[in-house]
Amino acid sequence: MTQPPKILYIEDDPASGKLIERMLTHAGYRVLLANRGLLGIDIARSEFPDLILTDINLPDMSGYEVATALRAEERFAGVPIVALTALGPGAQDMAMAAGITGFLSKPVDIEQLITQIQYYLQGGQDTIDSERLFSAQVKYTREVVSRLEGRIRALEEANDALKKLDNMKETFIQVTAHELRTPLTLIYGYSRLLEDHPTVNKMAEYDQSVKMLVESLSDSIARMQRVIEEILIISRIMTKQIDLALSPTNLSQLVARVLESYEEAFEQRKLTVHFDPAQWPRQTQLDSELIRIVMSNLISNAIKYTPDGGQIYLRAQTTSDQVMFSVRDTGIGIDVENQKRIFEQFGSLGDVKLHSTSKTAFGGGGLGLGLPVCKGIVEAHGGKIWVESQGRDPETCPGSQFIVTLPLVVQRPRPMLTRLSK
Ligand code: ADP
Repeated sequence: MTQPPKILYIEDDPASGKLIERMLTHAGYRVLLANRGLLGIDIARSEFPDLILTDINLPDMSGYEVATALRAEERFAGVPIVALTALGPGAQDMAMAAGITGFLSKPVDIEQLITQIQYYLQGGQDTIDSERLFSAQVKYTREVVSRLEGRIRALEEANDALKKLDNMKETFIQVTAHELRTPLTLIYGYSRLLEDHPTVNKMAEYDQSVKMLVESLSDSIARMQRVIEEILIISRIMTKQIDLALSPTNLSQLVARVLESYEEAFEQRKLTVHFDPAQWPRQTQLDSELIRIVMSNLISNAIKYTPDGGQIYLRAQTTSDQVMFSVRDTGIGIDVENQKRIFEQFGSLGDVKLHSTSKTAFGGGGLGLGLPVCKGIVEAHGGKIWVESQGRDPETCPGSQFIVTLPLVVQRPRPMLTRLSK
């Protein structure tokens, strides 16, 4: 059995759409509806109808432009495109100039509509004399060009407004984060003083929970500080304002210090770390503070996503001009399709609501800013970062390996960087 012909009707007025759909369906056609020109073009491309019926005045583009767009494609060269409109005879010339096959007037006469549709489906075509067609083509081209110019201007204005808004947003984030950072540093200092205060230590002799409360206070403040730092770095990366404070950096020592700061976590979580300081270069020219953040994020992720009793391997290889290092764990791993996404902002894969934001608890996560921060910092140094993992499986733990390349001496000035007044 042959399929009934498929007709696409592009019409923004729902009542007209329904009416014609009913008439055509009743006459045995299959009808597809689109309420905008662009949607019509998309449906035409995916459904390849036998005939396209289009209104002229559509919200996004005219029916003429729909016809011109489709006619530009080889496979639509022979598909009848029929305009259905209440516009007068001048419109007919324009329709022909745009590549429309035929022209039907509104209001529609049912019988005439069906007869006309059959006529166009069988290859029928309206004609006008060549002189009229030529002058309509000139007029139509002018109209399209002037509409296009208007659209480009409107888009440029919208783009400028968006850029301004984006700048305002980045400035707001930076100012807010700066403003929060100062009092937080003080609060952190006070909490550390309190932690070491003799009175607190005395009280802790009677009640251990006092010590725990004060320690939790310091931990939470430190966590807030890290989040603010990450937001500030991300914002500087986004606005290309990251400025490297390059200095002679002993990478071997830097990594050893970061590892020291996690010693308690390694012990608690029974994780074994494999690190040979001799593999790591001692003489590099990097921004040591930023590279410390990269190392800290990679190591804390390895801790967070590796079950108790696992292994963490840190390896480095140095050539004449670069160091390639990796942080490998025996943790839950990362699905291949997510391996790019995790370097995007807020690319956290777990349910953020469940994240403890702890840097060391198994499965504890954060905002999903750690890896984008690493990527921004590494790339600002002219290096690369990527991940290799066979997939995610908390049962078999295939593990993940984050690999970083960095030049031993960063070339200055990097063209993408501009100076930021700190
Ligand atoms: P988060 O604060 O969520 O840890 P990150 O940007 O550091 O943010 O990491 C993004 C996501 O990448 C994490 O939510 C986690 O799903 C995944 N991920 C990062 N490191 C590892 C790892 N070593 N093992 C498994 N998954 C990881």
